Amino acid sequence: PAFRACELSLSDVRGIRAKSVFQVGGAGAVGTGSLRGMPVLPALRRAGARIWPFDDHGPQTVVEIYPRLLTGSVHKSNRAARAEYLAHLDDLPTWARALGESGEDAFDALVSARAMWRHRDDPALHAIPTALERIEGAIWLPPMAATDTRRQHAYLPPMTDHAAGPRRALSDSTASATGPADGWDAHVGRDIDGTPLDAPGDLPLELFRTHAAELIDWIAKYMAEPERFPVVSRVAPGEIARGLPTAPPRVAEPLADILADFHRLIVPGLTHWNHPGFHAYFSNSASIPGILGEMLTTALNQNAMLWKTSPAATELEQVAMDWLRQLLGLGRGWFGMITDTASISTFLAIAAAREAKPELDVRGKGLVGRSDLPVMRVYCSSHAHTSVDKAVMALGLGHENCVHIAVDEQFRMRPDALAAAIAEDVAHGMLPIAVVATVGTTSVAAIDPVPEIAEIARAAGAWLHVDAAYGGAAAVVPELAGILDGVDEADSVVMNPHKWLFVPMDCSALWVKHPDVLKRAFSLVPEYLVTREQDAVVNYMDYGIQLGRRFRALKLWMVMRAYGADGLAARVRQQIALTRAFASWVRAEPHWEVIAPVHLSLACIRHAPPSLDAAATDAHNERIMHAVNASGEAFLSHNKTNDQLVLRFAIGNIRTDERHVRRAWQLLREAAAADLA
Ligand code: PLP
Repeated sequence: PAFRACELSLSDVRGIRAKSVFQVGGAGAVGTGSLRGMPVLPALRRAGARIWPFDDHGPQTVVEIYPRLLTGSVHKSNRAARAEYLAHLDDLPTWARALGESGEDAFDALVSARAMWRHRDDPALHAIPTALERIEGAIWLPPMAATDTRRQHAYLPPMTDHAAGPRRALSDSTASATGPADGWDAHVGRDIDGTPLDAPGDLPLELFRTHAAELIDWIAKYMAEPERFPVVSRVAPGEIARGLPTAPPRVAEPLADILADFHRLIVPGLTHWNHPGFHAYFSNSASIPGILGEMLTTALNQNAMLWKTSPAATELEQVAMDWLRQLLGLGRGWFGMITDTASISTFLAIAAAREAKPELDVRGKGLVGRSDLPVMRVYCSSHAHTSVDKAVMALGLGHENCVHIAVDEQFRMRPDALAAAIAEDVAHGMLPIAVVATVGTTSVAAIDPVPEIAEIARAAGAWLHVDAAYGGAAAVVPELAGILDGVDEADSVVMNPHKWLFVPMDCSALWVKHPDVLKRAFSLVPEYLVTREQDAVVNYMDYGIQLGRRFRALKLWMVMRAYGADGLAARVRQQIALTRAFASWVRAEPHWEVIAPVHLSLACIRHAPPSLDAAATDAHNERIMHAVNASGEAFLSHNKTNDQLVLRFAIGNIRTDERHVRRAWQLLREAAAADLA
């Protein structure tokens, strides 16, 4: 229905004045000599447009239309009005002023671009239903000379011709099929200031300055009020993809358009990990120093594969990893490197564990077709993260050789069960190559008894890897440093600053005791990567699969400096206190349960009214979770623990405070009551 309304209104608009330029969904405007009594306004209103004075200048001169489906502005287009309007704006760059004065059409585009920008955060825009979004995106009419009546009809093509995808600029069809000999198409897109967008080389720096400044403003606003957005995206599967063109543009597009599409098409499909109501999985944060670090990383475009290809990235990685080691209270003698995720860190660790048995010569001979190899076993608790399983699978050891050890009543790996499993395997001729202990399990944040496990692993000659991806961060709190007791006995440990240490995705810290073993597993230096100083420096490409490596150390270093050890500890401590407070409210409420000890910043809870049996209780909790998540104010995830569905409530976002936690608790109770009503 909305589609039709739009079509009707557009014909009305077209009817009013041959000279009018009107654009849908892009920078565009209706030019007309008069506003009063203009048929365009009722037509636009019927189409669902919102219309209000463009600015203090008053409706007689400029009216802005910011619609649910139409983007444009209506303004008085005579020269005097244009000049008056431009004089009124003090935030327009000079070039824009000059352009605006130079012609009605350019002025239209300018006014509209400004209109779009001014209202970029209007909730109505962000809540545009998909159908309308698609319509809006389906037609894009670039600014044209208003006097070109021959092409006037092309401004408003039938919707159906353009249903395939958004932003099919008219210039698409008029672009020449083959470009001139130098490879550059004669038909170049132009930015709002007339800059050719298809010229060789990068875009003009002035554009970068303008758009970067706009984006910084937007990001600052986004961070100031993340709650403006629903924490969980409300789009349906496929919706975002359907809103996007199926093919890349042939002609260069202005950054302003691309960014407008970002706001219009991409933002609605974001689940906001930066939202303080994000309590699902392990919530995390893009902190201010972390974002600044990432900006520089991208701009500098360093590739830290060799020391030589970025001495600073390499050495800062070594230094930052050593600082982080100290913050966590780990001893000396660790070699640190940064990877993208804990899954990869664990994969590398288990690869090293296999390489630590050189007699197997898996590097040289592989695993296939060898009768001389024993079955290799890797042990972890039944609550360990699946990244351990995946590493075992990917390393060709066979998933069945990832042995899941039973846990105690607090969901910690049972050392006696581990010892028994190893003994039995050894008796059957199998070879224990690695044990993975977890500090802060994904399911309930349980902490495996690392000192006991370390002893058993050592006795078995197996590599001990500690997965402290989430829980390790708690060790920055001095009074919680004991959480990593025994880890110095391990051979490797992973901790993710991108989980609970306020570093934006992605940044996983891996330390190994025997870098030579890791290097033996992965190093392979072709002639073109040989460097003079290679024996005197760390070339990080030698310690993993990747050759190219991002400069992740920068953001980690900036986060550690910007908060300091005390600031990091205070933040983590506060989040643990909030989680404990939340758990205490849950415990105090009849029929609500906290199903595991709350050591860190994860509380696993459920509502278990006595009237419901086990299956009904699970279903009830699942509905509670969906109801809370639908609120847009809080986001929880679930898990099965002891065959019961439990709700995971994690705190880890730097902007979460008591208000958010109280609100989430209120939503949970309301959802539970409503579900039983
Ligand atoms: N280990 C634990 C304990 C985790 O909780 C997670 C993820 O939540 C991972 C590993 C995997 O982390 P990543 O996404 O960095 O691979």
